[in-house]
Amino acid sequence: MRIFNLERNSNCPCGSGRKYKKCCQSRVDEAAHRISQAVGTGGFTAEGLEVIETLAVLCGLQSEDGHPPPPEKVGRLLLEVWQEEERLRSSFDEGALTALSMRVQVLLGEKHQLRTIRIPIWRFGLGAIGEQNESVVDEILDFYNGPEGRFFILDAVDSIGMSLLYDDYSDEELKTLLIALGWLVIDDARDVFLYAVLQKTKSDILAADEEFASIQDKRDEKDKAELYQELRSVLRRYPIFDQMLSEEMDDDITFVLDAVAKGDLQLDVPMYTVLGGIYAMVSKISDLGKSVLLRRKLDTENMLSLEEMLFSSGEHHFFFPELLCSLDEAANRTEDSKLKDCLNSLLFLLVLLSDTKQITVLKYLYGRCIYSYISRMPFVLPETDIEFSSLNDFFDEQLIERYASHLESQELFEEAAHVREVFKKQGRQAEEAAEHFEKEISEMARSILGGAEEK
Ligand SMILES: [Zn+2]
Repeated sequence: MRIFNLERNSNCPCGSGRKYKKCCQSRVDEAAHRISQAVGTGGFTAEGLEVIETLAVLCGLQSEDGHPPPPEKVGRLLLEVWQEEERLRSSFDEGALTALSMRVQVLLGEKHQLRTIRIPIWRFGLGAIGEQNESVVDEILDFYNGPEGRFFILDAVDSIGMSLLYDDYSDEELKTLLIALGWLVIDDARDVFLYAVLQKTKSDILAADEEFASIQDKRDEKDKAELYQELRSVLRRYPIFDQMLSEEMDDDITFVLDAVAKGDLQLDVPMYTVLGGIYAMVSKISDLGKSVLLRRKLDTENMLSLEEMLFSSGEHHFFFPELLCSLDEAANRTEDSKLKDCLNSLLFLLVLLSDTKQITVLKYLYGRCIYSYISRMPFVLPETDIEFSSLNDFFDEQLIERYASHLESQELFEEAAHVREVFKKQGRQAEEAAEHFEKEISEMARSILGGAEEK
C-alpha cells in the first residue's frame, strides 16, 4: 500500500491550502534525495523505497515551529536499522524480535505525540486483563489490515510525523521509531506493529484503571477539586482510557438527555448563566427566518452560535457549576434508581470534561436551559419581584438593570457585570429580532420542550 499518494496538483498535506507542487514538493523531493544518499546502497527494495518516501514527506513538509531531524541523520540511522533487521532475520532470533517490540512499546508510551496510537480493544471484546485471547487478536489484526485499517495507518503515520517534529529524540530512540515506521508502512510487517500497539494499549488501560481506582479510594481524604484534577491528569496521560470511559458511558448519557428532552427531568439554572445564550438564540432564529421556526428546531450548524456564546463570552464559567448543581440535585431527588445512576455517570463525565464529546453534551444542555427560560413566560425570578411576561422583557433595559442590582445585593458582582455586559453587547441586536418573531420563538421553545412547561 502506498502511504502518501501525492499528486502534483493535490492539496499539500502540510495544510497550507496550496497545491503540493507550489508548496512542499521541492522540499520533500530534496529530503528524499538526501535520505537515499545517506542510506547509500542504491538499489532499494520496493519496501525500502516506501519507507524512504514516507520519511521524506514527514521530514520535508513545512512546519512553523517543529524541528524534523536532518535527512542525512535519518538516512544513516535507517541504514543501521536495516542492517540490524537483516541480522535478526538470518539468525531466526525470536527473543530479539520481542526485545525490539518492547522498545517500540516503551517509545509509544514515552513520546507525547505517539500516545494517540492505540487500538480500541474493548470494541472487539478484548479486555486489558486476563489471558491472551488468540482468536480476538486475530480478528483485530484482520480488521486493521482490511479497508478500514487504512484510516488507522494514516493516523498513525501522521502521529509519527508529529512526533518527529515536536518530540525530542536520542539517536537510539530515533532508530526505534524508524523500526516502528517500517513495520507500519510495509504490508507484510504490519502485524508486528499492530501487535506492539495492542500490547501497549492493554498495559495503558490496566495502568490507568489502577491509578483511577487508587485515586477514587482516597476520595474521602481529598477535596473534590483536587480529586478531579488527579483523575483528569490520568486521562491526559492515557487518552485511550479516556475514550473507553466515554464510550462506556454513552448509554447513560443518552438516557439522561432523553429524560431532559421528554421533560421528565427539569434543569434549573439562574438566568445570568444563560442570558447571553438567549440573545444569541433569538438573533440566530431571526437571521434564519421562518424556515427554522417552521421546522421547530435548530440544527447542529446553528447550534454553533450558542457554542460561540458559551465559550467566547465565558458564560460557561457561570453556567457549568450551576448545571452541575442542578444535575446533582436531580440525582438526589429522583426516586428512579436507573435515572439516578445515569445522572451520576453524566456528572462524573461532565466534571472530567476531557474531550470534545462532553462539550457537545454541555452545549446541548445549555440549549435546553435557554429554551426553558424562553418557554415558561410569564415567570417571576426566584427571590425577587422581577417579572418576565414576554420575550420583549429580556430586552427591557430597566428590568435587566433591576436584575443586575438584585445580583449585586446578593454579592454576585461578577455575575451582575456579566449581565450588564451581555445586554450591552447583544441585547439590542436581539431586540429587533424578538419584535418580529416574538410569538413564534416562544412557541418554538415550548414545542421543543414537549409542552412540559406549558401553562
Ligand atoms: Zn506544504
